[in-house]
Amino acid sequence: MLTTELDEFIVRMPKVELHLHLEGAIAPRTLLDLASQNGVELPARDIAGVEQLFRYRNFGEFITVFMAMARAIVRGEDFARLAYELGMDLAAQQVRYAEVMISPMQHIRRGMDLYEAITGTAAGFAQVERETGTQVRIALDHGRQYGPDLAWQVLEVARKAQHLGVVGWSIGGIEIGYPPEPFAEVFAAARAAGLGLMAHAGEVVGPPSVWGAIDALGVTRLGHGIRSVDDPALIAALAQRGVVLDVCPSSNLCTGAVASWAEHPLRQLYDAGVAVTINSDDPTFFHTTITEEYRRAVAHFGFGADELATMVRSAARATFLPPDQRAALCAQIDGEIDALRRELGV
Ligand SMILES: [Zn+2]
Repeated sequence: MLTTELDEFIVRMPKVELHLHLEGAIAPRTLLDLASQNGVELPARDIAGVEQLFRYRNFGEFITVFMAMARAIVRGEDFARLAYELGMDLAAQQVRYAEVMISPMQHIRRGMDLYEAITGTAAGFAQVERETGTQVRIALDHGRQYGPDLAWQVLEVARKAQHLGVVGWSIGGIEIGYPPEPFAEVFAAARAAGLGLMAHAGEVVGPPSVWGAIDALGVTRLGHGIRSVDDPALIAALAQRGVVLDVCPSSNLCTGAVASWAEHPLRQLYDAGVAVTINSDDPTFFHTTITEEYRRAVAHFGFGADELATMVRSAARATFLPPDQRAALCAQIDGEIDALRRELGV
C-alpha cells in the first residue's frame, strides 16, 4: 500500500534510470517552440493541441505522432535544449544517474548529422551535471527494421562519440519480424569498442526474441523483456546470468504489450529472482515519470521500501559506466538509501 511514508520515500529516494528515450521525453511547450523556430508544421497550435496529439489510441497513431514530432528537432542546439530540460527534470526527481537513448535513424533519415545531434545532447547533459551533479550518459538505439548495414554506419558514429558520453549500444524499433540474430556481428564490434550492450526484446515478441538477445547479441540488459515470463528455462537463465530487465510498466499498458495491470508480469519476474529495474521509457507519450512509475509499482504490485531499494541498486550495478565510476555510484546510492530509510522509518 502506498502510505504517506512510502510515498515520501519514493519522492526522495536516489534513483537511477536506464530506459528512457530523449525524443519521447520532449515537453509539449518545447515541441511547440522548436516547431515554430524551425518552420515545421505541426498538427497542433497550442499546448492543449499538443496534449491532444499525445492521446493516440493505438501503436500506429503513436508512431505517426512520434515521427511528426521528430521533424521539429532540427539543430544541435535543439538536442541540447531537449537534453538540458530532461536532465533537469531527472535531477529534480532525485535521479543521480541516467542513460538516455537517441533513435539515430529518425534523425539520419531527415538529413540530420547524427554526430551534431549527439554533440548537442552531450552539451545539454554536461550543463545539467555542472548545475546539479546528476550524470546522464547516452546510448544509441538502432531500429531493427533499418537492418544491420545501416547499424554499422550508426556504430561508426557511436565510436567517434564515445568521448561525448556515449556508453551504450542497443536495438529497438519493430520487434515483430526483425529478430536479433542478424545484428550479432554489429554487437560484437560494439562490445569490442567498449560500449555496453542492451536490446529491446520480449516486449511484444515471446521468449525466442529474448534468447536471441542474450545468446546471439550477448546483452547484459533487456529493454522490457517481460515476455520472458512465458518460458521457465529463460527465467532461470536470466536470473542465473544476472541479465537485467529494464521494465517500463506504464509503457507496456499504453502500447497494449500487456492488457492490464493484473496481467503485468513484473512481480512474477522479481519473485523468480530476475534483476529488474523501473523506468519511464517515453514519459511524455505515456503520461508518466520515473517517480510515478515507482508509485505505480507499489500500488499495483505491492512492492515495499526494501524491494524498491533493491531495484534501484540493481540499476546502479547495471549501468554502463566504467567500473570505478559504477562502484562510486553504487556506494553513493547505498549510503543515501540507508540514511533516508532510517530517517523515514521505512
Ligand atoms: Zn524503449
